Amino acid sequence: MNKKEFIEREDVKELIEEIAGMHAVKVINLLASKTILDEFKISSSLKLEVNFVRSLLYKLYEKKIVSFSKERDSKKGWWIYSWTLHIEKIIELLIKRKKERISRLEEIKSRESINQYFICESCGIKMDFGEAVENNFECFSCGMPLVALEKKADERELNALIGKLYDEVKELEDFKKRREEREIAKKKKELEKLVGSKRVKKKKKEKMKKGKTQKTARKVKKTREKGKKEKVKAEKKEEKSKTRKTKEGKKKLEKSIKSKGKKKEVKKSVKSKRGEKKKGEKSVKSKGKKKEKTKEEKKKRGRKSSLISRIKKIL
Ligand SMILES: [Zn+2]
Repeated sequence: MNKKEFIEREDVKELIEEIAGMHAVKVINLLASKTILDEFKISSSLKLEVNFVRSLLYKLYEKKIVSFSKERDSKKGWWIYSWTLHIEKIIELLIKRKKERISRLEEIKSRESINQYFICESCGIKMDFGEAVENNFECFSCGMPLVALEKKADERELNALIGKLYDEVKELEDFKKRREEREIAKKKKELEKLVGSKRVKKKKKEKMKKGKTQKTARKVKKTREKGKKEKVKAEKKEEKSKTRKTKEGKKKLEKSIKSKGKKKEVKKSVKSKRGEKKKGEKSVKSKGKKKEKTKEEKKKRGRKSSLISRIKKIL
């Protein structure tokens, strides 16, 4: 039995008709095929008045066979009710109904077996169980033994009816169970999917993190190497400037010795000396500038190395 077969069962139709009338059966059929429908769609496809559709839906809603969700129409401003069918509720109601019928039939059966009738086959006098007991199971008219009235046919019929109902209840309970199990399996699958996607996301995140740390490590290495190279360069520069300084120092010394020797000679030489002095001053000035430059470079290097040490600490 599938959903469609279930909805088309005679006992289902009977139940729905009893609850909300014969048109409700059509509504149920429509809802069973579409999961969710608003009452305007229901009324237009069944060619029934919206208000009528609404009234029978409310009857079904009272029995929890349908439920609704409402949403305001943004254009027209009124509420639109969308309806959902709950097959489980129909199954439940049907099972309940069949069980009630079974108990009623069982009651009839037991009452009938107590109310056993007896008959005198010659006079045709019929007595119930109490009367037969009173008369010692003998005919009060002719004294013939009373015969228990044949009721087996009725009882057989009754038993068959009860048995059929029991079978139907079992069938419905199995159908319900299967649907529940399917629902559980579906939810489980959805959950697994959700968990799975989360796991994948987590893995991606971890991968990205790893990639980032590798990148930063590479960067740190690069800057470190750069720092070393610059250090070497700067050291070379310093050496060069030192050798230059010593060379200049020598020249100056030589010049001063020469100028001392020439002092007494001509005034012109004084002038030239002054010129040289100026030159010397200039060179001194440029030397100072150079010193400042190297200082700055040293500072820069210091900053870089401190940055590297900081990165090292972080790592
Ligand atoms: Zn008799």
